[in-house]
Amino acid sequence: MTNKEAFKQAKEFIPGGVNSPVRAFGSVGGEPLIIDHGEGAYIYDIEGRKYLDFIQSWGPLIFGHCDKDIEDAVINSVKNGLSFGAPTLNETVLAKMVCDKFENIEKIRFVSSGTEATMSAIRVARGYTNKDGLIKFEGCYHGHSDALLIKAGSGATTYGNASSGGVPQDTVKNTHLAIYNDISSVEKIFNSGAQIGAVIIEPIAGNMGLVPAQKEFLAALRELCDKFGAVLILDEVMSGFRASEFGSLPFHGVKADLVTFGKVIGGGLNVAAFGGKAQIMNCLSPDGAVYQAGTLSGNPVAMSAGIAALSKINSNKNLYAKLENLARKLTDGFKDAAKSVGIDIQTDVRGSMFGYFFTSKPVRNYEDALKSDTKMFAKFHAAMLKRGVYLAPSQFETGFICEPMNESDIEFAVNAAKEAFNEIKNG
Ligand SMILES: *Cc1c(COP(=O)(O)O)cnc(C)c1O
Repeated sequence: MTNKEAFKQAKEFIPGGVNSPVRAFGSVGGEPLIIDHGEGAYIYDIEGRKYLDFIQSWGPLIFGHCDKDIEDAVINSVKNGLSFGAPTLNETVLAKMVCDKFENIEKIRFVSSGTEATMSAIRVARGYTNKDGLIKFEGCYHGHSDALLIKAGSGATTYGNASSGGVPQDTVKNTHLAIYNDISSVEKIFNSGAQIGAVIIEPIAGNMGLVPAQKEFLAALRELCDKFGAVLILDEVMSGFRASEFGSLPFHGVKADLVTFGKVIGGGLNVAAFGGKAQIMNCLSPDGAVYQAGTLSGNPVAMSAGIAALSKINSNKNLYAKLENLARKLTDGFKDAAKSVGIDIQTDVRGSMFGYFFTSKPVRNYEDALKSDTKMFAKFHAAMLKRGVYLAPSQFETGFICEPMNESDIEFAVNAAKEAFNEIKNG
């Protein structure tokens, strides 16, 4: 079967043919590859073609596909049973691994997706502060729970409108939208008298393309939260164990009240988590009044994958330096190749995360990101795919380097980029 045939069949039974919309390649106008298997830094589609994978399942696979240690841990765990819905030792092992690493995380609870982690963190923050107001930033993504699916409203109001069908305006009426890297937009909301219980932000935004928060901005945000008694939630579902072994922390030094994790923390299986100060986390049921639960939360197989991934991170002290070096080589290569044919590009790197925008000015927030040339992006994406390089099919996603990648893989991608930009410019 070809990719095309398989995708057509999928569309008959699955809305849009996919179980998560970005996979449909809609924003670059192509059709998705149907994946057969992966190996290290590469994936293979059902037509037997091989691609260098810079998506890595959208972040989780920092050790690439079929890592032997994670695979062994999962297989061993499977043999003991898939799920019990009762406590197992591995939950505490993984919880302790995270709490030992972060001074500001005293307790942590595991869930099955990043969506659940942020939704639950916001609930416990509101329960703790007894205030309903929530601030989120335009361009940041925190999963698909109702209260977070908002876009900018019209005029001067900071209230947003639902950005998805099926989300009642009532459920977003307590969500206030602020501008990333713009502290005055946050001050305005706090000073308006809105009773803000929680502020949620991606400290390294990865869902509008890669846009890191400036250090001074995050420090000022921390101060505002303290002044007004709001819980600061850093959403590190993507940046956690990706930007560095301590997530975004080394880049700005700001400690959150609550942190959310996902992606890498599950080593490729369905794990996410939220954790933070004990006095907040103790508000959760069964000790406190804030309800939160999950049939497969802390699943033993998933825990074993997470423990294996974090153990490898802990024992490989050069990991992030190596990945960052490769990410820089890649983005420098993209930049040189684009500039040599007169194409505007902006690039950035945070550990194993990389981003590139086709625009002439630096990108600091969502409005800046929207100014990039998405038609150019679509052409570049198609030209790279043709040459065996699998990049995220949207200008507003982040790319990932994985541990099995080496210098020659990066050279391969940079050479492909040179050819791609030449083809775009000169036909
Ligand atoms: C991926 C992501 C989420 C959502 O996680 P899911 O597991 O897809 O629900 C939330 N926040 C951030 C920052 C993410 O990158």
